[in-house]
Amino acid sequence: MSDIEEHRKKIEEITLEMIKLLKTRTDIAKQIGDTKASLGMTVTDEEREDALRNQVTKLCKEIDLDQSTALKFLNFLFNESVKVQSDNKQTHLSVFLKAKALEEEGKKIIHLEVGEPDFKPPKEVKAALAEVYDKGYGKYGSAKGITELRKALAETGIHTTWMGTITEENIMICPGARFAVYLAITTLLNPGDEMIVIEPAWPAYKDCALNAGIKVRTIKTTLETNWEPSVEQINNAINENTKMIVLNYPNNPTGKILPRKLEESIIQTAKEHDLYILSDEIYGYYFMDGDLPSPNIWEYRYEKSIITQSFSKSYAMTGYRIGWVTAEPSIIEKMSKLQALSLTNVSEPIQYVALKARIDTMTGSSYVADNADLVRSRLEALIKIAKDIGLEFIEPDGAMYLFAKTKYKDFDATKFSEKLLEHGVAIAPGEGFGDYKEFFRITAIDETRLKEGMTILDTMLKESYE
Ligand code: PMP
Repeated sequence: MSDIEEHRKKIEEITLEMIKLLKTRTDIAKQIGDTKASLGMTVTDEEREDALRNQVTKLCKEIDLDQSTALKFLNFLFNESVKVQSDNKQTHLSVFLKAKALEEEGKKIIHLEVGEPDFKPPKEVKAALAEVYDKGYGKYGSAKGITELRKALAETGIHTTWMGTITEENIMICPGARFAVYLAITTLLNPGDEMIVIEPAWPAYKDCALNAGIKVRTIKTTLETNWEPSVEQINNAINENTKMIVLNYPNNPTGKILPRKLEESIIQTAKEHDLYILSDEIYGYYFMDGDLPSPNIWEYRYEKSIITQSFSKSYAMTGYRIGWVTAEPSIIEKMSKLQALSLTNVSEPIQYVALKARIDTMTGSSYVADNADLVRSRLEALIKIAKDIGLEFIEPDGAMYLFAKTKYKDFDATKFSEKLLEHGVAIAPGEGFGDYKEFFRITAIDETRLKEGMTILDTMLKESYE
């Protein structure tokens, strides 16, 4: 055998050994994940991770290695392990899919787990769908979206503080806020970077980051502290690899809106550390306080802000898949490159339909305001029932959910949601939103179905725990 062949053989052997090793590590990580789940432990343990980080930092100093690079690699390893270990988590989506399967078998299910408006989109949408063919919308177009829609979104923002400060250059149309969140995280951050998520949180922020090799630092908030993070918690989570803070107010699942002072301090912290703020304001119009939408972080004029909004909730257009991003043109430019790469442009006919919905409802019809009122009254009905049956929660400031726990010790919302589903009611277990196994999320649906569902929930609680 020649030298070269011998080397090749050696490399093959080593590669095979590495693959075997990786497989064993993945198996071990999976077993660790299963054990943690059975013990009710969370997948991520920030304290242990910090201890490891400190060890790596110390080692870097000893052997004179670049710390930031080493910590990025460590983040990559953490992420791989979290991915393998997170397989078992029950989210509102997994419950929804189980509920759908039961419906296909002919069972009746009351859906209190999904966040989908059950009313129709504005009537302008029907008219626009009928005329879009003749209008000729249906071609390839700009990745940022059609100018008319971008202009309409810039000009019809009803926050007075926005007036004149936003142009179409600040807007990009996306196929839903979910994709907008994905674009922001994957284009602005690099693998090994870190991102701060305040929990409880919509699971997609974490999942997007995991998928892109970005390490998520979670800030756990509690019912006892009004679902408010402290600035200290945020400061403690920031290091040289931190690049973004994600905000979502009104929050899914708690409905919380941050007090103004706290929000100001968070923006200030972001400025000091030069971090992006990704503010997901999809529930902005579902606000319990008056007719105007909830405060918008554009008001702070922080140039590293990215705001995501959508036609899904306020226009009941979930299946149309259309939303938008507001940010500085340089950020829009970066995000539009990935949008062009992955989908060329958002469906033109749907953009036209959205344009009609936006213009007509903002300049005459009270569709958005009426639906906001409807959601508010449903939420009020849900709050009342939940109080009557003794659930523990903080009254939401907005959105369309209640995040509650029961008075029973050792209550496990994941197990309870499985049992409840057998009795025809689907709820979203808290573990999908972070380390909240004792909580569950209920969506404020129409009052008749809501009452029916909550009565079954109450009966099941009493039967199971009293
Ligand atoms: N952000 C939050 C907080 C959500 O709850 C949802 C959907 N439930 C989305 C974004 C996604 O919205 P879209 O349908 O526009 O993708």
